[in-house]
Amino acid sequence: MSIDELYREVILDHSDNPRNKGPLEPHNIMEHGHNPLCGDKIDLYLNIDDSGVVNGVSFEGSGCSISQASISMLTEVISGKPIQEVQDLIGDFKGMMLEDEPNPFEDDEDLEELGALEGVKNFPVRIKCALLGWTTLDEALKKFQGEQP
Ligand code: ZN
Repeated sequence: MSIDELYREVILDHSDNPRNKGPLEPHNIMEHGHNPLCGDKIDLYLNIDDSGVVNGVSFEGSGCSISQASISMLTEVISGKPIQEVQDLIGDFKGMMLEDEPNPFEDDEDLEELGALEGVKNFPVRIKCALLGWTTLDEALKKFQGEQP
């Protein structure tokens, strides 16, 4: 199996069997994200505890397989992480998708699936699909921390 085929399987697996899909109770953040170019819609739920750690995360939504797979992966990798680490991860992911930086997740067992989305760069109109969950998460965290997005 080539690496491209492997990556396609990872994306299909997440879009067919999304992780952490459904409303989250309790939650202290709910953020809506929309990609009008493709029609992707998501609601992201987060429960952040008093020490600033992501205690729970889930999403609801509909859209293309890339948007849904990307946010499904997102919910897996940010669970249990402090906000600062989550923000670093958002930066790394955006860097990979937008700035021609090499895949930074390759050597990390917990994050390597994210590299499957790097291939989306070959289809520029779909980059926004892959980023939707991450930009929504970014906005949600900024609001949570009392900043204006
Ligand atoms: Zn899409």
